[in-house]
Amino acid sequence: MSIAADKVVSIEYTLTDDDGDVLDTSVGEAPLVYLHGADNIVPGLEQALEGKVAGDELKVVIEPEDGYGEYLAELVSTVDREMFEGIDEIEAGMEFHAEAPDGESQIVTVRGVDGDEVTIDANHPLAGQRLHFAVKIVDIRDASEDELAHGHPHGDDDHEH
Ligand code: ZN
Repeated sequence: MSIAADKVVSIEYTLTDDDGDVLDTSVGEAPLVYLHGADNIVPGLEQALEGKVAGDELKVVIEPEDGYGEYLAELVSTVDREMFEGIDEIEAGMEFHAEAPDGESQIVTVRGVDGDEVTIDANHPLAGQRLHFAVKIVDIRDASEDELAHGHPHGDDDHEH
């Protein structure tokens, strides 16, 4: 079986930046499981994995446009501190999950605080970065109908949604 649309794929991966610093890795944790063709992972990585088989290892360099997108200055804005109701201390570098206008979950990073004004950045933390992935394919299987309907893989745990 090779990787194609509607397959559930398990991979081990290490993601590094241009300097070779590790940004994220599955080493020491369970493999990443995703549904191929469902935008579960960045487009550049999905394309590179197409047609691969279990046991294959590959290194992929992904430009921002095929990764987490270009860094967009217009996604930086200033909001009133009241937006962060219930949070006592706000400081640069903090990350919050927020709902984007399209209903998707997004990460918002605090860039600075000036009195009651908080500068936030809705770019993905890895926007504008070239991604270096080292990937090993662990497992490939057919997706279930439920998984295809949901657009993501289901684990062994009970699944509520
Ligand atoms: Zn589901």
